[in-house]
Amino acid sequence: MRRPSRTPVLAAVAMLAASTVTVSLLAAPAEAGGRKTKVSATLSTTAANPGGIVTLSGWVKDKGKQKRRVVLEQKIASGWRTVDKGRSAKDGAYAFTVPTTWFYSTKLRTRVKPTRKHRGSTSRAHRLSVVPAYTPLGSPDSWETLGRSRDRWNPCRTLTYGINTSRATPDAGTVSTGIHNTMALVSQATGVRFRFKGETASNPLDRRWKRSDPDIIFGWTTDAETKLDLGPTTAARGGYDRTRRARDARGKAIWEALDGGVIYDLTDTATMNATEFQQLTLHEMGHVMGLGHVSAPDQYMTPGVELYSLPLVYQAGDLEGFSKLGLQAGCTRPVRFRGRTSLERVVPFATTLD
Ligand SMILES: [Zn+2]
Repeated sequence: MRRPSRTPVLAAVAMLAASTVTVSLLAAPAEAGGRKTKVSATLSTTAANPGGIVTLSGWVKDKGKQKRRVVLEQKIASGWRTVDKGRSAKDGAYAFTVPTTWFYSTKLRTRVKPTRKHRGSTSRAHRLSVVPAYTPLGSPDSWETLGRSRDRWNPCRTLTYGINTSRATPDAGTVSTGIHNTMALVSQATGVRFRFKGETASNPLDRRWKRSDPDIIFGWTTDAETKLDLGPTTAARGGYDRTRRARDARGKAIWEALDGGVIYDLTDTATMNATEFQQLTLHEMGHVMGLGHVSAPDQYMTPGVELYSLPLVYQAGDLEGFSKLGLQAGCTRPVRFRGRTSLERVVPFATTLD
């Protein structure tokens, strides 16, 4: 990270006007010159619940009267991420509404972009925690990864999902509501954005990928029709199949999930009510995002039937696991080989699900 330069520029220019050194200095890059800018930032609170109103506001001081472009930034493991953009008023005042749509505890700051006349600047960073309005059950340590090395999706992408309701049980309306509600809770837990692509004719985890397919697909079948084991005790399986080599924020090699979803056993979901269907989906979406089973029965990632007794929100271990696989963990970068994404390293026959 670069700090703003503190060279007293006005004095330098005045002094150099009568000097031959002027020429070389004036030819220096624009960022090196310009008037000084300072920016202050105040956060209205240090902790909030989802939906809470939080503002980051302050002043841009540059001795000018022009509006300046300001950016709200949030620290994630891969660096400072742009959250919102705006402009200061002529008197320098600015204010951002800070997103409180997902759970995080990290720093926020304001960055002022440089202009031809003024240098850029960065405010002090302030920590904000967005925490659940409910008390999650159990221990934050109760989580496991599903894959080999914290396999995950790139949390900086908007992931699409689609539902194949052609054989859905108990009925299309119930499953759609349960899936949308679950995706909202996964987004809240991870910071990942999901976009519903609508109805799809494709099925998940069948290795017939089409470019137009959503990233995550929900579909129904029977045990007899699938090679994925949906035996007498298995109501659904969730996970991802296509992956590629990528690096995490620290440069460590990981597998980035590219396609995944949930396949339900339509004979099992036929007898479920809306609550049970969503509870099952909360569990399976944990697998889709990269979470494995835990022994604690008070977490959604328990493999036991205890999950059908839990309230319809993720619990302490679930939330901790999601945060380690979500936006807070930073963007992933695909590994490139001679300028191409190394798709040849896709593992087409290693479906990771549970
Ligand atoms: Zn499972």
